[in-house]
Amino acid sequence: MKKALVVGSGAGGCAAAAKLAQSFDVTVLEAGDAFRPFAHDVRRLDPMRHLGLFFDERMIQLLFPEMRILKTREGLVHVNGCALGGTTALATGNAVRCDQVLREIGIDLDNEFAELEQVVPVTRDHYKNWSDLTVRLFAAFEDKGLNPQITPKFLVDADRCVACGHCVLGCRFKAKWTADMLIEGNPRISVVTRCAVERVLIKGGRAVGVEARVGGKRCTFEADVVVLAAGGLGTPVLLNASGIPTQSTLFVDPVVCVAAPWEGACLDAQMPMPFVSQRDGYILSPYFDWLSFFFNRQWRSSSDGIMSIMVKYADSSVGSYDGSRLDKPSTPHDEEIVKRSVEESLCILERMGVSRDDMFLGTLNAGHPGGCLPLTSNQAQTLHHEHLPDNLFVADATLLPRSMGNPPILTIMALATRVARCAEESFAD
Ligand SMILES: Cc1cc2nc3c(=O)[nH]c(=O)nc-3n(C[C@H](O)[C@H](O)[C@H](O)COP(=O)(O)OP(=O)(O)OC[C@H]3O[C@@H](n4cnc5c(N)ncnc54)[C@H](O)[C@@H]3O)c2cc1C
Repeated sequence: MKKALVVGSGAGGCAAAAKLAQSFDVTVLEAGDAFRPFAHDVRRLDPMRHLGLFFDERMIQLLFPEMRILKTREGLVHVNGCALGGTTALATGNAVRCDQVLREIGIDLDNEFAELEQVVPVTRDHYKNWSDLTVRLFAAFEDKGLNPQITPKFLVDADRCVACGHCVLGCRFKAKWTADMLIEGNPRISVVTRCAVERVLIKGGRAVGVEARVGGKRCTFEADVVVLAAGGLGTPVLLNASGIPTQSTLFVDPVVCVAAPWEGACLDAQMPMPFVSQRDGYILSPYFDWLSFFFNRQWRSSSDGIMSIMVKYADSSVGSYDGSRLDKPSTPHDEEIVKRSVEESLCILERMGVSRDDMFLGTLNAGHPGGCLPLTSNQAQTLHHEHLPDNLFVADATLLPRSMGNPPILTIMALATRVARCAEESFAD
């Protein structure tokens, strides 16, 4: 049987590997290790926060190496997962289909979404456990005509979810579904962790394998087909290192929270983003922002005493990452969306009875990178860029034409499933 290599075990990598395993022997190469949820009790870290010991978000990596942090010159904090399951292990579990940007260029993924529906557990049942405050917030959103919708969630077993509010630190209760579950136990798939791929080996116009470091040792892996799914930051770095240029069209879906003190809110111990309101260019959702709580001096109250609404917006396709420096300037278009969305959030909190003087903002952060090798209508059938070797594919957020301003996991998995199908049709026995 022919061999396929998949680089990266996140949303795209696992979906592609699961599909490819129907006709290839698949090896998944993952830079991180097996995922372990954050081991410390976050409330016990509070005294250290008050002492001002947490002063740079990059410190998180010392306690939690599965979470990788980058910062732009302007101060935007970028979060990524580096472990089996990729960033899906840090996700808040939102299972939102948002493929409009692909439909616009002629890519219809209905079949792939239907296929995923058979194997990925998604539920809205969590609404039964909402707190009184969440119910009140939902009503406030409705009153303002924001059409809030219960968020579908990736949950293996809703009964195991204790709504602890720590999804972004990894699920200790094994309730959250993560992408590695797509490949777990598949006899046709082997996984090599702590394997940092450095470049694709290309000979005579064909990809023949990859060069990687495994535990500090340089190795090569050979294959008939190579699929890159190292994420929106990792894949462009690999392509560039292999002599294949990408574009400075990075988007990241930035997030800013609008918050206020609220005694007994306990948003820190509830399911994040229980409902979402889709707006023009952004979404709004209740969300306790741990990053701001620990590192932003304006977040002074105790974690159970803050109410907060997240704004996540579709940013301009302007930016790049070269393996060490993240460049993501804010454009006038981005600034206009922030102004509009923050104002709307302030009005919601006002409606809840909070005075504007008491409100404060969170740290600008992001974690949905993509777009550096965007698909256009020219590739709608093949999902393959003409300047890549025929047997080298990309299967992650790097392919997205522009920001969706929405949780992308489900859409990336559908896209990666289709990419794997295209690879299968051309190269399987
Ligand atoms: C805190 C947080 C919460 C989120 N919540 C949600 C949510 O609720 N719903 C949603 O839809 N989206 C959510 N997202 C976004 C979502 O998780 C990502 O957009 C998605 O996982 C990206 O998929 P991907 O396959 O492109 O990359 P990733 O899932 O990031 O996977 C890339 C993998 O490649 C590996 N890798 C990188 N470089 C190399 C290399 N050189 N060699 C080998 N391996 C490599 C990485 O270690 C990683 O495991 C969240 C993101 C963050 C940061």
